[in-house]
Amino acid sequence: MKKIKKIAFIGAGLINSSLARDLIGKGFYEKSVAFSRTQKTRNILKRLKIVDKVEDNYEKTVKDADIIIIGVPVKAFSSVIKKIACHLKTGAIVTDVGSVKKSLVKISEKVLPPKVDFIPGHPIAGTENSGPEAGFKGLFKNGYCILTPSSKIKKESLDTIIKMWNLVGMKVDIMDPDYHDMVLAITSHIPHIIAYSIVGTVSNLEKSIKKEVIKYAASGFKDFTRIAASDPIMWRDIMLSNKSSILKMLKIFKTDLAKLEDAIKKEDSNFLYSLFTKTRKIRKSITK
Ligand code: NAP
Repeated sequence: MKKIKKIAFIGAGLINSSLARDLIGKGFYEKSVAFSRTQKTRNILKRLKIVDKVEDNYEKTVKDADIIIIGVPVKAFSSVIKKIACHLKTGAIVTDVGSVKKSLVKISEKVLPPKVDFIPGHPIAGTENSGPEAGFKGLFKNGYCILTPSSKIKKESLDTIIKMWNLVGMKVDIMDPDYHDMVLAITSHIPHIIAYSIVGTVSNLEKSIKKEVIKYAASGFKDFTRIAASDPIMWRDIMLSNKSSILKMLKIFKTDLAKLEDAIKKEDSNFLYSLFTKTRKIRKSITK
């Protein structure tokens, strides 16, 4: 395994700050640094003491770093990678935590020098909150992290990143970036679209009805409001960066929704009962 003298976090929001917290004391690196573009976040990071150094300069952040972890909204990835590319040392490993993979791989292939290994990553863990203060120890425990590396990278680099996620409690799956984006479109991105849409519909209703909806909201609607409270910049970027997979999956979803609508119209109780029975089984198998 590669010896990690310096680890650098670029962006220190919910995900990267949680990873920084979880790696403390694990003996994975010798020193850590986090970059933030805003004074406010840099002050918070200094107070939290989850990294050894806080930086406002890209070059100083990545200089001599063995691992660089990019944790910014996916549309911001491009500007970050362009700013750091020429300052990376030979043999550095660049990885990320973005929720979309194909578009980031495309940019990195163009921008990163061959002396660097890029290992795209996506830890499947999170909350609706953002920023370094929203991060916490244990966020990744028992979850999965998907890595989508190219076959050209060194095995030692891949082993190092797998080890990092294992240390914070994640199992690692290796996947093709296109396949990752398709799977995540249906399991995460479309559920967010549904939540944003239904909460938006409620907020458009007449004031009096809206009041009643909020008053009597059972856990179903409350769950949607939690998801719809997710960071608007992060989710705008995900929708635009994974456009083609989302549109493909949305088409399938709309066809199934139309079938459900039709069954209600025709009072097709068999259809409704068998669908609801099937979905209940899926829930039970997931929670198991
Ligand atoms: P977050 O809490 O909102 O933090 C984002 C960080 O990115 C902040 O530190 C912010 O810096 C920085 N940033 C934003 N725009 C930037 C730019 N143009 N240049 C440089 N830095 C910029 O976000 P997060 O939830 O940690 O998400 C980070 C990544 O992880 C995203 O790509 C997201 O898709 C992915 N992800 C999120 C979740 C989740 O549930 N939240 C789960 C898995 C993966 P300042 O504070 O200085 O503005």
